[in-house]
Amino acid sequence: MTSVLSGYRRITVKIGSALLVDRETGLREAWLATLAEDVARLAGAGAEILLVSSGAIALGRKILGLPPGTLKLEESQAAAAVGQIALARAYSQILDRHGLVAGQILLTLGDTEERRRYLNARATIGTLIGLGAVPVINENDTVATSEIRYGDNDRLAARVATMMSADLLVLLSDIDGLYTAPPAQDPGARHIPLVERITPDIEAMAGGAASEFSRGGMKTKIDAGKIATGGGAAMIITAGNRLHPLAAIERGERATLFLAADTPVTARKRWIAGHLNAAGRLRVDAGAATALRTGKSLLAAGVTAVEGAFARGDTILVFGPQGQEIARGLVAYDADEARQILGKRTPEIEAILGHAPRAAMIHRDDMALAE
Ligand code: GLU
Repeated sequence: MTSVLSGYRRITVKIGSALLVDRETGLREAWLATLAEDVARLAGAGAEILLVSSGAIALGRKILGLPPGTLKLEESQAAAAVGQIALARAYSQILDRHGLVAGQILLTLGDTEERRRYLNARATIGTLIGLGAVPVINENDTVATSEIRYGDNDRLAARVATMMSADLLVLLSDIDGLYTAPPAQDPGARHIPLVERITPDIEAMAGGAASEFSRGGMKTKIDAGKIATGGGAAMIITAGNRLHPLAAIERGERATLFLAADTPVTARKRWIAGHLNAAGRLRVDAGAATALRTGKSLLAAGVTAVEGAFARGDTILVFGPQGQEIARGLVAYDADEARQILGKRTPEIEAILGHAPRAAMIHRDDMALAE
């Protein structure tokens, strides 16, 4: 199976404070070492990687021994001054183990928003990448005050991704993607693997809450998604707190992909193929199996059995009459509806469901064939 990250050429990875800094023990070096290994492997395979790293304030307050609770602006700026230098040293040393050179860039809002400064920042970061270095970017927290700050690194990372024409933004976060509602508050919340377009419905799912440690909750991640996808970069949100967080994405661990407006079909198929967690299965007849292999969509008429409790948009597996896996794809119907219409032709389906049928049970653009 090809990796879901292998098609991307320039990848911006945002690393949240909570992943990098432990309140008791400080910098999580063992975790950072596995991230650096992943970065080195992707770079070795030809991808250009930019890191947008938070953690300056969290690390600085630990080093300075500041008490828990909200810091005054000058205190967090002082903490950032101490934390940023430690952070830069850590990235530099850990990337060096893989023969990679780190270059630190600290941005303030105007650097991406004012045209002249934007061109300048873009030229510098572009030159760094051209020289084979890995840019390590953060907001210049020591001088940025509230009116002139991004405030959260989700949006900063999205601005960097679009400024640098990255084709992918990865947000390594404390949650493994977008859910229909914040899962901490709603145990029935369902994970959404793929977002085609950020609609008001998608925004409503994000809620507004942030975790204690990071500034950005899901809302700022969706805001970042709007910036990134509007600027031509796809975005992945996944939990970063496991070791080798980028390899986990490649393995198909749970995550949400937001498509850029112009994401090619191949990228979305790679994403679907790489998805581990299937919510259900469809069995199809021999005719449908042949049709799928020649690039057709799966119609209800060819389905002989429906297993599982999936919802529209979930990833499900498609099996042939002999029980062999043929494909996986994003299903257009909930399991209950799929059961009602299996084996039925399109003209009959409307009468059964009471609404106009969808074009297919699984559209061909939403399906990846098994290799
Ligand atoms: N720039 C801040 C820092 O390095 C983090 C902002 C954020 O967590 O989004 O501490």
